[in-house]
Amino acid sequence: MEKADILIYGCTILPMNEKCLIQDGALATKNRRIIFVGKRASANKIKAEIEINAKKKIAMPGLINCHTHVPMTLFRGIAEDQPLGTWLKETIWPLEAKLKSEDVYVGALLGCLEMIKNGTTCFADMYFHEDMVAKAVEKSGLRGVLAEGIIEAGNKARGEKMLNESINLAKKFRGYANGRVTTLLGPHAAYSCSPELLTKIKNKSLELNVGVHIHLAESKEMFRKFEKRYRPTEVEFLDKIDFFSVHVLAAHCISLSGEDMQILSKRGVNAVYVPVANMKLGVGAAKVKDLTDLGVNVGLGTDGPASNNTLDMFETMKIATLLQKLVYLNPKILPVHEVLRMATVNGAKALGLGKTIGSLEVGKKADIILIDPSKPHLKPLHNIYASVVYSAHGSDVDTVIVDGNIVMENRKVKTLDEQAVMERAEKTSLDLLAR
Ligand SMILES: [Zn+2]
Repeated sequence: MEKADILIYGCTILPMNEKCLIQDGALATKNRRIIFVGKRASANKIKAEIEINAKKKIAMPGLINCHTHVPMTLFRGIAEDQPLGTWLKETIWPLEAKLKSEDVYVGALLGCLEMIKNGTTCFADMYFHEDMVAKAVEKSGLRGVLAEGIIEAGNKARGEKMLNESINLAKKFRGYANGRVTTLLGPHAAYSCSPELLTKIKNKSLELNVGVHIHLAESKEMFRKFEKRYRPTEVEFLDKIDFFSVHVLAAHCISLSGEDMQILSKRGVNAVYVPVANMKLGVGAAKVKDLTDLGVNVGLGTDGPASNNTLDMFETMKIATLLQKLVYLNPKILPVHEVLRMATVNGAKALGLGKTIGSLEVGKKADIILIDPSKPHLKPLHNIYASVVYSAHGSDVDTVIVDGNIVMENRKVKTLDEQAVMERAEKTSLDLLAR
């Protein structure tokens, strides 16, 4: 066998495909892809440029955050314990109106740094000045599925302008950063864009062959307001204008009727379950079992760090399963291996990257994390799946590889100056508040 780029050996591997856990395993990468996954004993002929002794560590696919707004790291902790409407109107929107593109870059870099340190290797983002998020993705070494947000809010000219910006980003940054960036169009929500604009977005999406990222059925209050205005529910309304004929990534999916769920299933809409932000804003919880029983693909997201307040997907996995058990009053709901699939393979599928990432198998891109379980809260390791979901924190991630490139080793990030990124973000956030 030709020389590999990286060989990781001695670890327990959670491949997250149909194969079971591999004890004393090995993983090899070459030209950004995985070329070997299996028992260490079968890898003894593999030589590599970089060899990582991962004895006692756990290797798994990098986690996939299917819904966030990373530049909102700058707003972390400045609007707490408020309802969604007040939170948006009184704090977030006025601040966003003052945001400059440079601020977005600084906030996105901080978000990327946080995600690397927590073992997230790919994220779906929707924001303004999204080109700056693309630049942060390039610099940090992460993978991103990016959309420029479109909020019409009754202003037609503004809607058109934002649609054009969203199209430009989708075209210009598709395949950016050595292919680590893919793009979507970003209509904010059915209630903040007119039916005409949503139809245009759908047509553009078909023409450009890119999907859309939208907030859907986030709160009961909005659900009722929407029903009053349009008669059908958000989902029925979007179905009527054939919006679901394109690849749709729909964040939240909380206030859904039985018929709505049937429609999402029939039309192959990808739902994103966002437990922490939904709990924090007190808007409700998606009924994940109802959705998955109907065959809806469900990924997992954090939402922006202003309503979470972290980008830690380990924390999100734990809360995701706990909340569902509470919603259904049944401890068997959303078992650990299922929530892990949401944060990996199902997330990849939701982002249109099912063939590229999400599991550790030969031919897929090398997005790999190593967890160090040599900590009191991870001993003893009887059930690795349960330990990863219920006991591990993002800070237990030791090594992160994205696209075959080591971006963090022994908790030291190689692509970014950690101190400088944090200092710059603090300064930018204070400056923004003083503007
Ligand atoms: Zn959101």
